Amino acid sequence: MNADLHCHSTVSDGQLAPAEVAARAHAGGVTLWALTDHDQLGGQREARAAAEALGMGYLSGVEISVTWAGRTVHIVGLNVDVDNQELIDGLAETRSGRRARGEAIGEALAAVGIPDTYEGALQYVNDPAMISRTHFARYLVEKGYAQSTSDVFSKYLGDGKPGYVGHRWSKLADAMKWIKAAGGEAVIAHPGRYDFSPVEFIAFFDEFIQLGGRAIEVVTGSHTPDQYREYAEVARRYGFYASRGSDFHAAGEGRIDLGQLPPLPADLKPVWESLL
Ligand code: AMP
Ligand code: MN
Ligand code: MN
Ligand code: MN
Repeated sequence: MNADLHCHSTVSDGQLAPAEVAARAHAGGVTLWALTDHDQLGGQREARAAAEALGMGYLSGVEISVTWAGRTVHIVGLNVDVDNQELIDGLAETRSGRRARGEAIGEALAAVGIPDTYEGALQYVNDPAMISRTHFARYLVEKGYAQSTSDVFSKYLGDGKPGYVGHRWSKLADAMKWIKAAGGEAVIAHPGRYDFSPVEFIAFFDEFIQLGGRAIEVVTGSHTPDQYREYAEVARRYGFYASRGSDFHAAGEGRIDLGQLPPLPADLKPVWESLL
């Protein structure tokens, strides 16, 4: 099984339409795929239809933005019912602040001498309500302020940088409730990206488990090989199901393409075994 259960399309901050991501996943050897756009189910029908036409397995998905202990974390919901009203309403609420936050990012960057970035970022967005830091990053690269989108995060958009604007996303308990209401499995996305102390990680995993969480990403395009090993160990310790996904957004962005990650360590329980 070549499962890739985390990636993005033009519905959020990816650069390919859902059917194009499906084709790229299939070309990359993926046999079980999930499109997991940020806070939005709008690409799910197109993704599933494209996967089925290619003979590729499909799990519906979404990546929910959450604020936990003042920090942003991402929770992937897999195998959710895309018609579940509680999930649909919760996601609409989650993304409702993006426009005002985008304007504030534009003002913050203008204050350090980089003008018109909100308008510039909008050129990269399908739906202005979905504006994200990735869209700002692409515009700043286009204008020569940085070499790559990850460079933009290090210089301008990451936590503590001049264009960073704090934001309150959904509560962990709410995101978990919506995923459960929709019959899905909640997965902690890219834990290696969270700047938590060991004590905070324990509190986070404990709360996730108390809220019914059972799965964690181990092999992801957002982790280094050292972090594959570190979070495989976490999965063993907590008895979590393990997930694998590239977090693909666009060709030439990010570490790895669809379907190209190493397999999960053989002793871990793959999350798809609980879902298929
Ligand atoms: P937002 O939801 O608007 O805060 O944007 C978050 C998105 O920015 C993530 O989903 C990633 O696609 C992207 N991102 C976050 N950190 C980085 C980074 N260090 N390098 C490149 N992209 C990043
Ligand atoms: Mn993204
Ligand atoms: Mn994420
Ligand atoms: Mn993602």
